[in-house]
Amino acid sequence: MKVAKFGGSSLANATQFQKVSDIIQSDKERKFIVVSAPGKRHGEDFKVTDLLIQLVEAYIKNDKYKSYLITITDRFKTIINDLNLDPKLITEIEKNIIDTLESDISDHLKLNSIKAIGEDSSALILSAYLNSIGIPAKYVNPKDAGIIVEDLDGGAQIIDESFDIINQLTLEEGVIVIPGFFGYTKEGNLATFSRGGSDITGAIIANGVNATLYENFTDVDSVYSVNPNIVDSPKEITTLTYREMRELSYAGFSVFHDEALIPAVEKQIPVCIKNTNNPSAPGTMIVANKEKTHKSVVGVASDTGFISLYVSKFLMNREIGFVRRLLQILEEECISFEHAPSGIDDISIIIHEKELDDNKEFIIMNRISTELQPDVVRIHRDLALIMVVGEGMKETIGVAQTATRALGEAQVNLEMINQGSSEVSMMFGIKSNGLHRAIKSLYNAFFVD
Ligand code: ASP
Repeated sequence: MKVAKFGGSSLANATQFQKVSDIIQSDKERKFIVVSAPGKRHGEDFKVTDLLIQLVEAYIKNDKYKSYLITITDRFKTIINDLNLDPKLITEIEKNIIDTLESDISDHLKLNSIKAIGEDSSALILSAYLNSIGIPAKYVNPKDAGIIVEDLDGGAQIIDESFDIINQLTLEEGVIVIPGFFGYTKEGNLATFSRGGSDITGAIIANGVNATLYENFTDVDSVYSVNPNIVDSPKEITTLTYREMRELSYAGFSVFHDEALIPAVEKQIPVCIKNTNNPSAPGTMIVANKEKTHKSVVGVASDTGFISLYVSKFLMNREIGFVRRLLQILEEECISFEHAPSGIDDISIIIHEKELDDNKEFIIMNRISTELQPDVVRIHRDLALIMVVGEGMKETIGVAQTATRALGEAQVNLEMINQGSSEVSMMFGIKSNGLHRAIKSLYNAFFVD
């Protein structure tokens, strides 16, 4: 049995819902279907989830919110009408939104509950449509599916005991349609995963039902070796290991949520990234192990928006506990960090911009200066990270040489280099304005024969 998850672009309008239904119908193994909220229909359009967030924020602030409500219900109305479904479904969705907005619950719970309505409505519509064309299908709410979570700051986290309950879904007849992106706490409160979290739901269901394959349908034919917005038609990746995907999705490869790998890895369920608009394309398989190829590098990921916190102190290497105390300051200020390349007397802590607003920056700079007495403490902004990724790098001589030559030829100055101990990736930190040049040059060096 397979789990198929369809992303927002796959459900953006009625035509997309029909494509999804064709895909489900074409393979009897596709039994568990997980859906996102309708996404953008074109470049200037809005994702329903973003509109729902704007709606609830406006409502909570007592701002004008009606226009959001109209836009959202119109989106669903058009889909439901175009699919010739019972208009009662529109009334049901509208009532759900209004009842949730007006309910006497905390703002946090209200935000979560409204955010989830996009996925919930997609699942209601898809199951109704499947039934209307003769495919027996059932909508199953995440609470009934057994998705029990803890509601944490960075997004909900699944609780282990969920998986046995989810397994009961295998006893159900017909196609099971489950909304992605949310679960329920033990107390019965709705909690959402982090953004893009329907991928996580899909992986949780795949784990719970012991799926043979987790198919993740999106709007690209495969995972590409570099960002296609930087290099035209880059090479497609046919197979990736879980670890390679983890490294790539960390730095800008947004086709698959990095947290979604965990439940899949646990049961070693292969994941296939496929295109709803071109389902016959083979897609990219993500597996535990793959055969060795002559290619040591599978992809080059990159992302902007990083900050480097540079701290230096003469004889730092002899000062026991220095780095621990530095990291403790970050921990106490609730700042997570990405990498920490170091020298004998200095260390750079790489932090994502979103972690460090002006106020937090002021606090940590002060604390580091007074508590650690460093010689230098500085913040560098506008940093881009490039990850050169491939399991084969470990056994290949000259990968770093090829990468640094390519970066040199592109006239890109390296701010830092870091190779993770796993040797699955090599990281380069550069100024953001050189990123496109750098990626093009790396692509030519690693992928163009
Ligand atoms: N709709 C949610 C989001 O936009 C979750 C998802 O699409 O996976 O983040």
